[in-house]
Amino acid sequence: MTKPTVPAYASTPANYGARRGTVPAEAFRGALVVAVRPDSPAYDAGIEPGMYISHVNDQSLTDMIVWLWEADEDEVELTVFDPSDDTSTPCVLERFPGEDWGLTFNDAIFDEMRTCVNACVFCFMRMLPKESRDTLTIRDDDYRLSFLQGNFVTLTNMSDSDVEEVIDKFLSPMNVSIHAVSPDVRRSLIGRNAGRGIEVLERLMDAGIEIHAQIVLCPGLNDGDELDRTLRYCEAHPSITSLGIVPLGFTKHQDRFASSYSDDWRAARAVVEQVRPFQERAFERFGRHTFQMSDEFYLAARLDPPQADFYDGYPQFYDGIGMIRSYLDDTDAVLADAARVRRTGDALRSLGLRLVVISGEAARDTVARFVESPELSGEARAIKNYYFGGNVNVTGLICACDILDQLETDLGRVMLILPEVMFNADGLTLDGYHREHLLTLLEERGARALCSSTAPQELLSFIEGDLGL
Ligand code: SF4
Repeated sequence: MTKPTVPAYASTPANYGARRGTVPAEAFRGALVVAVRPDSPAYDAGIEPGMYISHVNDQSLTDMIVWLWEADEDEVELTVFDPSDDTSTPCVLERFPGEDWGLTFNDAIFDEMRTCVNACVFCFMRMLPKESRDTLTIRDDDYRLSFLQGNFVTLTNMSDSDVEEVIDKFLSPMNVSIHAVSPDVRRSLIGRNAGRGIEVLERLMDAGIEIHAQIVLCPGLNDGDELDRTLRYCEAHPSITSLGIVPLGFTKHQDRFASSYSDDWRAARAVVEQVRPFQERAFERFGRHTFQMSDEFYLAARLDPPQADFYDGYPQFYDGIGMIRSYLDDTDAVLADAARVRRTGDALRSLGLRLVVISGEAARDTVARFVESPELSGEARAIKNYYFGGNVNVTGLICACDILDQLETDLGRVMLILPEVMFNADGLTLDGYHREHLLTLLEERGARALCSSTAPQELLSFIEGDLGL
């Protein structure tokens, strides 16, 4: 995998289990078509947005895996359901080699989402404020999303036929939460189905499926000797090509946890040291470090993150592993063209605008390296997360209420950038504000309020575009 571009510095806790905005399917209709490319095979067949594809080559279209497998040739038979008149119509589509079918679906899963059967003691979904929207409390654990979108799953709810499907279709790689390997520790962490997860994991590895694994490390629960056992297990299974170790995240809406590694730099540093020999041995054997600490560990341990090549191509980038390093490198690359950044800073200054970029507390100093550079002379403003409380400090979980409470009431002559990662696909924050409503509230305080990626390259291009540079 090549180094990813940086969408923003932000991550969510690994124990944040649900996909934002997901709702369970009701009656199965198939895949909802949300867009049809003009002049495509689907367009020529008369398929329109709002229709459903219920079957493909006589298979129920339950998910994108079925679609990818069945619609791989240059001819496909579809059953199209039109809800406007309750009719189902068969049709055959043909395409030129390499042409796409011209269909965009609304999701990756079209039947019922597989929800989790676990009771993880560290589950972020059990630590949400009571008033959280219903969709935030859906706990999905769907192996199909592991393959399709890289969601971490526990494998504890998979039937034997699910396992056979993964093996038959060779759905590789899969992202799997391991957390611990000793049966008693697993059971105390995850619940009574923990054993099934390891059983399935080993079947998948025996079949050659590549695994990207994860540990949510909880002080006093799966650290110390148990962490050693889990690391040795992963070391003994070369199918596990990356293992991300992330610290426990917790909110104030629970009473089990009161501290984590973010409160104890020595403990964080001890874990970094404990993992180091495994990284070194993995590099000697495979040329990759495999065992990766999350950014939060380096921040908590007050250590600089490793250089980019240590991250083995960033296989777990979107889980907060390597984002800081990538952001810092992106900052250096953008600032290498100091004249360009200065031109933007000069344009802001000539308009009397002060740039303020919002971030979570964890990312503030990293974001400041670019935003507060002499050329741009803006401000990276950390928003403390009172809505969730606990040790939640990442940009992706910033809530509108905290922004409104913590920003000054007079924002005149401020260009205020909200990070786009704090909004879901429907434009909602975690506390239910719509992006446009929040921007309007901030504009009423005098700000020029905008929403953008806060990654240096993308942020600079965005501001240039806004200023017409
Ligand atoms: S109970 Fe465990 S597997 Fe289920 S959503 Fe929560 S953290 Fe994820």
